[in-house]
Amino acid sequence: MDMRFEPGESPLERDGIAEKTISALRTLYLRDERPWVVAFSGGKDSTLMAQLVCNMLLELGSRASKPVHIVSSDTRVEAPNVEEYLAGAIRRIQAFAEASDLPLFARLVQPEPDEGFWGQLIGKGYPSPTRWFRWCTSKMKIRPMRRHIEEITAHHGSVILLLGSRRSESPERAKRMQGRDLTDAGLNPHHEIPNALAATPIMEWTTDEVWEHLLAHAPPWGGDHRALYDLYRQAEGGECPVILDLSQPSCGGNRFGCWTCTVVKLDKSMQGFIDSGEEWMRPLNAFRDRLKAVRELPAWRMDRRRSGALTERRQGPFTPEKRKLILEELLQLEEKCGKTLINDEELGYIQSVWAREFDLSGRAALDLAQQYGRRANRWESAVTVNIQDEILEELLVDNPLDAELVHSLLRLAYDYHPNLDDYGKKAEFERSICNAVEMSMGTEKDA
Ligand code: SF4
Repeated sequence: MDMRFEPGESPLERDGIAEKTISALRTLYLRDERPWVVAFSGGKDSTLMAQLVCNMLLELGSRASKPVHIVSSDTRVEAPNVEEYLAGAIRRIQAFAEASDLPLFARLVQPEPDEGFWGQLIGKGYPSPTRWFRWCTSKMKIRPMRRHIEEITAHHGSVILLLGSRRSESPERAKRMQGRDLTDAGLNPHHEIPNALAATPIMEWTTDEVWEHLLAHAPPWGGDHRALYDLYRQAEGGECPVILDLSQPSCGGNRFGCWTCTVVKLDKSMQGFIDSGEEWMRPLNAFRDRLKAVRELPAWRMDRRRSGALTERRQGPFTPEKRKLILEELLQLEEKCGKTLINDEELGYIQSVWAREFDLSGRAALDLAQQYGRRANRWESAVTVNIQDEILEELLVDNPLDAELVHSLLRLAYDYHPNLDDYGKKAEFERSICNAVEMSMGTEKDA
């Protein structure tokens, strides 16, 4: 990442690129009635996009009539300092929207307790994610975001998604962007979200231009971008984007991501934070390393899958004793670093799974939580277990296939199957399969 800029330094931004982008946004906005969804990760690219969109709405004034939703995803296991930053940004954007009377809505979406990291790992005993068993991204990022977008789509019939992708991010990204079929308005149908068209308004911006613009222009929702800049400088990495599909790079590595991420060898952003003085994150990093190590220990794993199938080398979920141990260590970690790392609903969900599977007292998780000053209640919502998902995920453990690719191919099959006899559908189906496979290969390269 190029971090050559300091606030106030001389501009390198191409003349008028911001004005040209705002003008293109205005044309697109006024073109139809479809609401917009701005995918906001809190990183530099989506911050720039949100800022340009807000400026465009301010310029339009009373002509700004159709809704713009700025939507961000919080996995509940974001690095705590990044989570605070993101929640603060969403709050400020919402306050700005209310004060300026614009049709602007900011929202942070989160996974339900039965989709979250701790519910899966401690509740069901799923070993922490790897490249080959990456259950986290679909459950914690894609599903919550899709749900919210589908709610908006259900209300309005269709949406336009604004993504902060840029060609100069990587050669793979440039290639993927090159191969898309665009409509007259420069939109391309989103292959995973029905009735959604995607736009990439800052596609041609360079990284230097993004930083220069942000550092020279305060956001309309107040404050400046200093905190964002400092986060990048500390982490020495890029953000984990709002992930909506397989075309986007995976998280982890040197991107801001979940502090629990075991998909990568080393969490460079966490290491960057620690190296720059955030000492309180050291125990979090050690806990992550332990999660990565214990997943490989046969003694920690059951010999049967959750489906009951016997495995050869104890490759089932974590044993009940180890799930309890991980929960206890997590609660101890909370005390050590003074942050809430698992919420009451998640504790309640874990209890509901344990009670179904092995905990005859029906209180083991609640009692443990109480010992550490937590007052969790049983999870009241109906426990919905998607049997197909569970079977699929267990099959994937023994087969070196990417979980999201398999989900994506299955979804394509469900969507296309009833209409395959329609003219052109078979070719479209084949193209979609090729896209999904290519994107998956790109995704793996990034992991
Ligand atoms: S950062 Fe890691 S743990 Fe979090 S969703 Fe991405 S791959 Fe999964």
